[in-house]
Amino acid sequence: MRILVIGAGPTGLGAAWRLAEHGHADWRLIDAAPRAGGLSMSHVDDAGFTWDLGGHVLFSHYRYFDSLMEHALGDAWFEHEREAWVWMRDRWIPYPFQNNIWRLPDDDLIRCLEGLVENQRSTERTTPPAHFAEWLERSFGRGMCDVFMHPYNFKVWAHEPHTMGTTWMGERVATVDLARVLRNMVLRRDDVSWGPNATFRFPQHGGTGAIWQSLASQLPESQLSFGRTVVAIDSGARRLHLSDGTEERYDALVSSMPLSTTLRLTTDLPDLQRYADRFVHSSSHIVGVGFAGAPPEALRTKCWMYFPEGDTPFYRVTVFSNYSENNVARPGEQWSLMAEVSESSVKPVDAARIVDDVIEGFRRVGFIDGQTPIVTRWHRHLPHGYPTPWLGRDEVLDAVQPVLESRGILSRGRFGAWKYEVSNQDHSAMQGVEAIDRLLLGTAETTVTGRMNAEPPVLAVSR
Ligand SMILES: Cc1cc2nc3c(=O)[nH]c(=O)nc-3n(C[C@H](O)[C@H](O)[C@H](O)COP(=O)(O)OP(=O)(O)OC[C@H]3O[C@@H](n4cnc5c(N)ncnc54)[C@H](O)[C@@H]3O)c2cc1C
Repeated sequence: MRILVIGAGPTGLGAAWRLAEHGHADWRLIDAAPRAGGLSMSHVDDAGFTWDLGGHVLFSHYRYFDSLMEHALGDAWFEHEREAWVWMRDRWIPYPFQNNIWRLPDDDLIRCLEGLVENQRSTERTTPPAHFAEWLERSFGRGMCDVFMHPYNFKVWAHEPHTMGTTWMGERVATVDLARVLRNMVLRRDDVSWGPNATFRFPQHGGTGAIWQSLASQLPESQLSFGRTVVAIDSGARRLHLSDGTEERYDALVSSMPLSTTLRLTTDLPDLQRYADRFVHSSSHIVGVGFAGAPPEALRTKCWMYFPEGDTPFYRVTVFSNYSENNVARPGEQWSLMAEVSESSVKPVDAARIVDDVIEGFRRVGFIDGQTPIVTRWHRHLPHGYPTPWLGRDEVLDAVQPVLESRGILSRGRFGAWKYEVSNQDHSAMQGVEAIDRLLLGTAETTVTGRMNAEPPVLAVSR
């Protein structure tokens, strides 16, 4: 069986790794980019600062993925506590927000409490929530939604919560422990999510991209081809047409390019092509700013911070130099911040101004002042940032995926499967691994179908 893999991000590399592991000879991996990594790639800018495409934190729900990470970097990792905060109303609130509302100004706190109490009384819970906004309201109460959940989620997703579905959260019901909230309030106690059990690893050198570069370098070079874009798919003849004018034949295709792109390129399936315009996503602007000196005291140990309010363009900022001192050109003498800004047709961004707007935002929240020396500014626009779980998504996926599969095309990964709930690096790599096992061994895929045993990793208000 000749297997082609499109994309050298975590999905494609997971697939290629597994093919090599099985000793399967007839395969090739193709990527439009000049090197491996996809959205998990890192970049070194002209000033020598390393940047990820957004703050990447490595989760793992699989032993197989753990061992893949050992193959990638051995013990060249730093271990960090996941210290996350929310900045709003001119103050820091530890994450998770709902447990620490006692830090809010009185009027906001009262609104949140009223919503929680109202929710406790509410009995009309026989029907499932109609959309994400309703799920949030049932989970956190109207007050907390007005104060935090709705503005924050719009800022992250760049789509209104009432246009998003709920199936991506599985059967989870996020209940707020009112007794705990009240206890924290009376004791004025920070109830934080970090500590010895909430740690994450980060590559000592080279950013997140070092993981995927390393795995790619351990695969047979002759079977990887970069700088080649797939421009058309003939699913009947099972052939790919590439930007360099060449063709590639396949028996099975594992594709991690956006599913909507695959539908547009598969010209012999016109019935499916009409679905392409229904896919909803958001774009991301990643802005990195490097500074001389040391970070202010307030940022010394923080990992990432959420910004629900409208006076800053970013929804999340990572203190990227805290992840590895090697993320700056001169360790110990410099530091860096990386901001993420979402964009969509309902939340436009002025790309020409975004770097200045982000720096202005850093000033507004007190990270820097007029004197802080800026060493470098870096900006990347990711046309595909977040695969939005829009209302009606599952019907579209159910209509297109079986047809593609019947034609030997397994569309997998963050935008390949378009399932946000299984779109982190570990899920993506495992989707690639499981797709190959399905093709070669006939085993069932569990990640893309959401039938894994592990807890779904995504929190509505987290990353
Ligand atoms: C802002 C942001 C923050 C994130 N934070 C985290 C995090 O904290 N933790 C985490 O685990 N994950 C995080 N992720 C997700 C992570 O980046 C993805 O899980 C992962 O990169 C998805 O892998 P993939 O292989 O499915 O897709 P991608 O990484 O998108 O790779 C797809 C590849 O396909 C190639 N391709 C596309 N079209 C074509 C074509 N026509 N022809 C040839 N090649 C093509 C692309 O060049 C690309 O290399 C984040 C993502 C973003 C955007």
